[in-house]
Amino acid sequence: MDFAYHYSNEQETFRKEVRAWLAENVDPKMKTSPREEIEGEVWDWGYEFAKKLGAKGWLHPTYPKEYGGGGLTPELSAIIHEELDLAQVPVITGNTLDLPALSVWATEEQKQEFLKGRLTGELIAYQNFTEPGHGSDLASLETKAVRDGDDWLITGNKVYVSGSHGKGRPRTPDYLFTVAVTDPDAPRHRNLGYFLVPTNVEGVSLTPMNLVTGNGQNHVVMDNVRVGPDRLIGGEFQGWQVANSTLEHEHGGRGELPGKNRVMESFLNVTSDRGWAGTDHTANQAMEAYIVSEIGRLFELRNHAFYTVGQEMTFQGSQNSLWRKEKGLVQAAAMSDVMGPYSLLDDSAFAIEGGEELQQFQLNAIGRTHPGGTIEIQKVIMARRIGISRTTERAAPTPSTAGQTASTKK
Ligand SMILES: Cc1cc2nc3c(=O)[nH]c(=O)nc-3n(C[C@H](O)[C@H](O)[C@H](O)COP(=O)(O)OP(=O)(O)OC[C@H]3O[C@@H](n4cnc5c(N)ncnc54)[C@H](O)[C@@H]3O)c2cc1C
Repeated sequence: MDFAYHYSNEQETFRKEVRAWLAENVDPKMKTSPREEIEGEVWDWGYEFAKKLGAKGWLHPTYPKEYGGGGLTPELSAIIHEELDLAQVPVITGNTLDLPALSVWATEEQKQEFLKGRLTGELIAYQNFTEPGHGSDLASLETKAVRDGDDWLITGNKVYVSGSHGKGRPRTPDYLFTVAVTDPDAPRHRNLGYFLVPTNVEGVSLTPMNLVTGNGQNHVVMDNVRVGPDRLIGGEFQGWQVANSTLEHEHGGRGELPGKNRVMESFLNVTSDRGWAGTDHTANQAMEAYIVSEIGRLFELRNHAFYTVGQEMTFQGSQNSLWRKEKGLVQAAAMSDVMGPYSLLDDSAFAIEGGEELQQFQLNAIGRTHPGGTIEIQKVIMARRIGISRTTERAAPTPSTAGQTASTKK
């Protein structure tokens, strides 16, 4: 059986259109290297470029046109993303995982303002979930939202909030999608609200955290931040359900039509150029890295196919996430075995030309197992979804199961 996706002639014609548009609109000086954190002039350019893509409906191609998406099929969307990846351009959008939640849960007015602003690239947002004492057990979070007339006052601390904020990055996000306790006396999962907390108001501060992978994560403090009623998404006690529409996507429930795997390609090229797969052990390790990567591609493809036809999923999203995380560790270990110290060099006379991506891959390998829930947490979710845990749960609604993507819209 052939598991590769083959684009049609019409789709390849669309690729030519995208490539030509990128050649005209991408400033070659703004290309990013995997080693660089995006800042200053490149950040500014990437933000303006995202808006240009948004104006064409190419920033979030499968979302409905009436809200600023492109109304395109997932295949054309995949082509756009493959071409952007190839062109190595910065596209500044922040964290886009609020989009599924907004699609499913926001009112029409909220969609006109927030979903549209996000799909066209005008608004930037970050995910503001994890707290110093509550990561895996997110539902126990302590940030409070207290009613004050029609408004809410939000107070709490969040950590690891990802996005380029800080030195050299000229723009804070427009809002932080935040989960907070709205009823301290209500049972678990029925006590939270999902808020779009503005950042240009009194009481919000973001401070970059100093992690081994750089300063891309922030510590957020909210001290009595006033939030209007129009910024509560879903009902005032439905925040857990709304947050899970975000998490379904983060866990890989949407899957991807994977294009080129640049890291694997670069690893296999370097290995073959330098003759490093010359022993049974190193050859086996290189093969193992390739096999886990291919299996990951198939999980992505399967979830993408399910998502596209609007099929409800159970364990498949978290299975994809689990594999993404475990495969990253297997690949990093194999690269380190095959390449030795070269896998860790980027800025030295001995560094491999074009090897920055591999070095970044090594540095990020462990960190990558945390965002969106660790390996153990994906197993817990799968157990609940297939009914072998003490508690059972169903997948939260997504734009796919709610019939709101370009491909599933009737
Ligand atoms: C690079 C990076 C980017 C991130 N970006 C964001 C972001 O943008 N926004 C955001 O809100 N958060 C973000 N996070 C936070 C991420 O979601 C959390 O790190 C993750 O959910 C784990 O939480 P924790 O770090 O508090 O670890 P803990 O919850 O303290 O877990 C510690 C260890 O205990 C294990 N463990 C915990 N509970 C169980 C259990 N029930 N059964 C078995 N094992 C268990 C975990 O698997 C883990 O190994 C990011 C994290 C990283 C590293």
